[in-house]
Amino acid sequence: MSKFFSKKYAKLTPYVPGEQPKDIQYIKLNTNESPFPLPKEVIESARAEAEKCQLYSDPTCTELIKKASEVYKVKPSQILPTNGSDEILNFAFMAFCDKDTPAVFADITYGFYSVFAELNGVPYKTIALKEDFSIDYKEYLGVNATVFIANPNAPTGLALSKAEIEEIVKSNPDNVVVIDEAYVDFGGESVVSLIDKYENLLVTHTFSKSRSMAGARLGLGFACEKLIADLNTVKYSTNPYNVNRMTMEMGRTALCRQDYFDEKCKEICAVREFVATRLRALGFSVLPSKTNFLFITSPAISGEKLYKKLKARGILVRHFEKERIRNYNRVTIGTREQMQTFLETVQAILEEEK
Ligand code: PMP
Repeated sequence: MSKFFSKKYAKLTPYVPGEQPKDIQYIKLNTNESPFPLPKEVIESARAEAEKCQLYSDPTCTELIKKASEVYKVKPSQILPTNGSDEILNFAFMAFCDKDTPAVFADITYGFYSVFAELNGVPYKTIALKEDFSIDYKEYLGVNATVFIANPNAPTGLALSKAEIEEIVKSNPDNVVVIDEAYVDFGGESVVSLIDKYENLLVTHTFSKSRSMAGARLGLGFACEKLIADLNTVKYSTNPYNVNRMTMEMGRTALCRQDYFDEKCKEICAVREFVATRLRALGFSVLPSKTNFLFITSPAISGEKLYKKLKARGILVRHFEKERIRNYNRVTIGTREQMQTFLETVQAILEEEK
């Protein structure tokens, strides 16, 4: 740390993204990316925009918002595009939390929530997941804090129902409830349709998982007009051109190809169920996932050992050195062929352990 670093950040522990090693060609099952390429027209749209890059991108994201409003059936004024959904989550901490309005989230959830809280000097409280790693929605009723829930949750893959989320939103009328739906397209129930009914609901989506655009960085926030206006105040006070030209047009074109992405999500879900069945047959305990990943543990091998042995054989999964979950690994669902290799490798590792 330099002597110039602000004291307010001195104790900050930054988020650690999943590793992206370049030493060998890994089967990458560690950051929940899509294994499928983008449709050609989405890539072409980025090329065309690259030619206009001497000009700033549209800060109002008008064309992207127009298409998103058709697809999601909400008003354009209820949408805010951002540089990945991480950005809208950070904006939410900036806009809707402070010393007197703490944040609350699960003890095991997306690791960035606590980092954003610390970055913004926001006090926070965590609520323990139940023994089976599910969220007890009743613990979030009337909490007097800004609520952040990943639904489905990461890294567990478990989801609350729309009715349960609605109860949480309804019972916290004086606080914003942020529902992070990064993985909702793989089997969860979205609550975007509730934004007209509740002035305190913010729903966040990402193009990084179900729409194969992790490297382009695009997220969308959905909320009533007033919340979006607040978030725009924060956006225009930090980075008005937060979404670049290429990404904005790629996002719009991707929204025109919902048929393609729906089919790919179906494929991921089918492969997920096949892998879960096979892993259970190998003695793993596998949480029932509504996402593009599985959270798995085996009595035959520790979480860390399995992670290391897979890595040595060219397969990357995500291991969290964290209480309660250190014996688990989070495995992204790749293509059928990649998952076949993963299963064969796991089986070989288990044989060695006998
Ligand atoms: N929410 C959750 C639960 C996530 O797992 C991720 C991906 N790391 C994000 C939000 C952020 O995704 P992105 O910034 O790529 O949109």
